[in-house]
Amino acid sequence: MELPKKVLSIIREIINEAPRNGLELLLVCAGAKPGDIFDFLSPLKARKLFVKYVEELKTQVPIDYMFYERRTDASNLLNFSELAHINEMIKDYVCYCESEQECGQIMYYNTLIVSQELALKVKALFEGKASKDYDYCVGVFYVYPRCCINANINGSGMKKFCPYTEHFWCTPNCKESKKIALKFKNTVKENFPEYMDLLKTFGRPVKTCL
Ligand SMILES: [Zn+2]
Repeated sequence: MELPKKVLSIIREIINEAPRNGLELLLVCAGAKPGDIFDFLSPLKARKLFVKYVEELKTQVPIDYMFYERRTDASNLLNFSELAHINEMIKDYVCYCESEQECGQIMYYNTLIVSQELALKVKALFEGKASKDYDYCVGVFYVYPRCCINANINGSGMKKFCPYTEHFWCTPNCKESKKIALKFKNTVKENFPEYMDLLKTFGRPVKTCL
């Protein structure tokens, strides 16, 4: 999906402050990724820019957002937390915030893909409230295929990141993962070809992936 010029200029501004967060925002705005967060490891300036612009973004693309207080022990609730970088983030927790108030996290999502009901469930997880559905809710939110979630819950997954995606693939040839990787790649290529190399850092190369 081609994005309006105004949206692209806002995203570019955020990419300049926090390249990865900016690219994630691009993928969500374009509908390639269901949702994402500006978490406590995101640069404060990028989060401030998002807050400044989000109402304007909402008029141009189908996104919505929620603030929440992230609990540092929330990752313990996730069976498949190794699938994401969540554990690492918690371990390396450093609060870049200038004040307690600014420590809140921002969760945003594409309303054409994520229902408000799902968004609220994911928010509850990040706030530290447990439920047996959450692995799947968070998997849907971050676009991790069900086959890969299952593989990581039962321990048969690859335990390696692949290029362009943020999750551990169930197998090097996972069809769903390849589809997602291609969607991410094409979205960045279409809107910001100069950031293709940056997208590669979403995961670590695995020879057989793409
Ligand atoms: Zn898979």
